Amino acid sequence: MLDQTSMAPADISLEDSNNLLASLPDELRRHLYYTLGIHDKESDPTYYYRALATAVRDRLVPYWRETRERFRESDQRRVHYFSLEFLLGRSLNNAVQNLDLDEASREALHRYGVTLEEVAEEEPDAGLGNGGLGRLAACFLDSCANLQLPVAGYGIRYEFGMFHQSIEAGRQVEAPDHWLRDGNFWEIERPEHTRTIKMYGHTERCMDENGTPYSRWVGTHDLLAVPYDMPIPGYKNDTVNTLRLWKAEATDVFDLEEFNSGNYPDAVVQKNNADQISMVLYPNDASENGKELRLKQQYFLVSASLQDVLAKWVEQYGDDFSDFGRLNCFQLNDTHPACAVPELMRLLMDEHKVDWDTAWQITTRCMAYTNHTLLPEALERWSVALFSRLLPRLLEIIFEINERFLSQVAKKHPGDTELRRRVSLVEEGDQPHIRMAYLCIVGSFSVNGVAHLHTELLKSGLFSDFYHIWPEKFNNKTNGVTQRRWLSHCNPGLRDLLNETIGTEWDSEMEQMKKLIPLAEDPAFRKRWAEVKQENKRRLADYVLENTGVEFNEAAMFDVQVKRIHEYKRQLLNVLHVIHLYDRICRGETKDMVSRCVLIGGKAAPGYHVAKLIVKLINNVASVINADPKTKDLLRLVFFPNYRVSSMEIICPGTELSEQISTAGKEASGTGNMKFMMNGAITIGTLDGANIEIRDQAGAENFFLFGLDAKGVEVAKQKYDPNAIIAADTDIQRVMEMLEGGMFNEQEPGIFDLLTTGLRNPHDQWLTIADLRSYINAQVEASKTYLDSEKWNRMSILNAANSGWFSSDRTIQQYADEIWGAKPLQDS
Ligand SMILES: *Cc1c(COP(=O)(O)O)cnc(C)c1O
Repeated sequence: MLDQTSMAPADISLEDSNNLLASLPDELRRHLYYTLGIHDKESDPTYYYRALATAVRDRLVPYWRETRERFRESDQRRVHYFSLEFLLGRSLNNAVQNLDLDEASREALHRYGVTLEEVAEEEPDAGLGNGGLGRLAACFLDSCANLQLPVAGYGIRYEFGMFHQSIEAGRQVEAPDHWLRDGNFWEIERPEHTRTIKMYGHTERCMDENGTPYSRWVGTHDLLAVPYDMPIPGYKNDTVNTLRLWKAEATDVFDLEEFNSGNYPDAVVQKNNADQISMVLYPNDASENGKELRLKQQYFLVSASLQDVLAKWVEQYGDDFSDFGRLNCFQLNDTHPACAVPELMRLLMDEHKVDWDTAWQITTRCMAYTNHTLLPEALERWSVALFSRLLPRLLEIIFEINERFLSQVAKKHPGDTELRRRVSLVEEGDQPHIRMAYLCIVGSFSVNGVAHLHTELLKSGLFSDFYHIWPEKFNNKTNGVTQRRWLSHCNPGLRDLLNETIGTEWDSEMEQMKKLIPLAEDPAFRKRWAEVKQENKRRLADYVLENTGVEFNEAAMFDVQVKRIHEYKRQLLNVLHVIHLYDRICRGETKDMVSRCVLIGGKAAPGYHVAKLIVKLINNVASVINADPKTKDLLRLVFFPNYRVSSMEIICPGTELSEQISTAGKEASGTGNMKFMMNGAITIGTLDGANIEIRDQAGAENFFLFGLDAKGVEVAKQKYDPNAIIAADTDIQRVMEMLEGGMFNEQEPGIFDLLTTGLRNPHDQWLTIADLRSYINAQVEASKTYLDSEKWNRMSILNAANSGWFSSDRTIQQYADEIWGAKPLQDS
């Protein structure tokens, strides 16, 4: 019972709540003793991690609550970022940095004889994503909080994130990533906001009391979505945004018949299948996975999140939705959350009694779609048969959307049945499918690509029919990355040098990096720049030794390609160049050769046979090269296992040459390329994705360009003859002979035939052999430049200096201004 003396938690002011906390050392001690029950003298660094994480999280809570209040009270548009992936990595250092608790944390830990670095190492990566798309979502949340924008992330709390990769006998071996095993010290469970999700069942047409027909979705199997909130701290600005992750659970409603007929355990077990939905992240990057469980995950995320937003709306505004579209925006990270379009229609019509036209007006006013790829194998299509079984009500709505859309098209282009067939949301055939990208385009007011070239290719190719119908919907938002994680945190040496020379504002105003431009001409500054790089190379070399047993020569050029293993990213092209260098060494042709340490890392999707074979090839080539005494001090190749966010934090500061060598027209943007650029690596790359903009920003003279451009690729495909190219080029011929002669698979004959026949195939989509000569030449140019270290360092500085455009702060400012119409909510 409440009486006058009892106090609701909401009565605690920001100031009071901070006063409730003791000093950080005392809080650390309190959590070790009370929260964790650690009373021994000797204890594992993991306990210090848990205690410090909990203490730091506590310090976020008052700002978190205050930010939520500010959002509730404002009449600004709120944005909900829907993504099946958030590749967050670690949170401790990020929170410590953003709350300015670095000094305090170090001091608090000092009395236990542990460092912040040791403690931070104890945190498992939150690997709830595959690669670029998931990491982009994480960088975006960071920038939204930095810019104090009212943006909430919505995702799934996978029990198992991206698999752990190890290498056995050169092959990738996957192990589950049980990142939650020791608890997640950042999240707060919010069971009071649990939502119910329907699946299966069937629909019924009914009449309401006014004689208006409506649909009911009945006989469903229901499950629960329980939210867990992760804090997203802004950078030294008192804002803490929210990432809400849903966990699937069984409802406690049982089949009473089964329950009472003595099958109690069976009934319980059946119910528990519900939690499968949030069990595991699908490990496919840039390829579709047509499994039923995947569609369940997608619908689960979308339904729970939309219900959440609608419930908050109703709490505040009642059943009046006239302003809903103006005050809400949903950004769909690829087509994975495409069900948001029909689900919002369903919730508005079936649960809130809004008529079709009004519901459609609202939906198309608040949905915005980001496309991430042009690869046909990545375009999601779900069979009508699966849809009608799993989500029958949604299918009805999709059909109705399609009918109305097609009749609109028919009105504008009467007689053009071919056009109607092309743009239909339903791909006809003996197994009709729903085209999820088309559903997103029709249901959204904005469709964006993620780099200039990518958006142009969307407009002229994949979505050209839609571009002609709605040119105003299409826009570009070139990706970015957060400089707070990808420079300030991961490269403390460079951070200190920047702070000392160009001031400290670059951490939230990345264009300040331009102040470095004149310093590129200063020999004393170049020397300090090179010293920082050398220290980062030392750190990377230690890390490589620890993880692979291979020693890197710290005087060598560090040449790095880390990203998902995929044919279009052409790790094979890189390997062919390394084999060519080895061939030169074997032939004693080492004049002007620059010593190189080549690092390749990345995960292959477990079902992607060719990608896994490429991993095996890299490892086999590495074994031969590293064991040959002739290569000593000249060439090393390693495959770095289990590439993830926390390893990129050590790899990118130590890299000198950034390999961005995809077949032109295939990489939508890339973001790894931007992280390397910020850290002073020079790119060797094709005119693909954001590489083009990197080259524009850095200046063509500060970029090693090679290969066909996107148009050239289309032309070359018409008459591609890789065998003729090989026969006409003795260097390439020798590389192929080494590969095909079994030099790298003496004990395993024939295992790489699939790769070599692919290279020689005139239909090879990736045109690897077409670009090899130009690639080798660009590598010679890179080597020559490296020998002139003054020139190299100058180029390195100019790359970092011109990387401001690639801050995700810039990207998010453009989303806010040009798509969302969202304004920052400053604390009053
Ligand atoms: C940045 C990043 C990526 C994306 O790399 P691309 O080179 O753009 O494909 C993938 N994985 C991790 C762990 C990253 O940090």
